[in-house]
Amino acid sequence: MQKKLQVEAIEHGSVIDHIPAQQGIKILKFFKFTQTNEKITIGLNLATHNGESKDLIKIENTILNDQQANQLALFAPNATINQIKDFKVVNKFQVQLPECFVDVLACPNSNCISHNEPVQKRFYVQQKKTLKLKCHYCEKSFERTTFDELD
Ligand SMILES: [Zn+2]
Repeated sequence: MQKKLQVEAIEHGSVIDHIPAQQGIKILKFFKFTQTNEKITIGLNLATHNGESKDLIKIENTILNDQQANQLALFAPNATINQIKDFKVVNKFQVQLPECFVDVLACPNSNCISHNEPVQKRFYVQQKKTLKLKCHYCEKSFERTTFDELD
């Protein structure tokens, strides 16, 4: 018996799967995917095998670069990226947390010099399970949830 597709198939492009529910919209916004003319199909709160829900994004004619794949880990550390060609998956990989994030996040410490100096914001990944990041400038560590929503 063929499993019914939850979201329409695409011919060429990328499928980002296993996004935690609620994060799909944030990812679209962060990467400005909706500002392109490419066709985007999204599935929100889709049921998974273990009874949880997930989001899924399909973008035509778009291949995520390594930097985007790394940044995706901020929202969806267990996401998989499928590259599609002629309706077939030609490459599939899981996102990886990089060692550091540059110019993606602002330091939650309001006294941090990075707010007042024209410097690249830089955070080192300190702990992966519950994602914790350490600021290069004030050397304080923060959990991912401490950071304001990214733009
Ligand atoms: Zn800081």
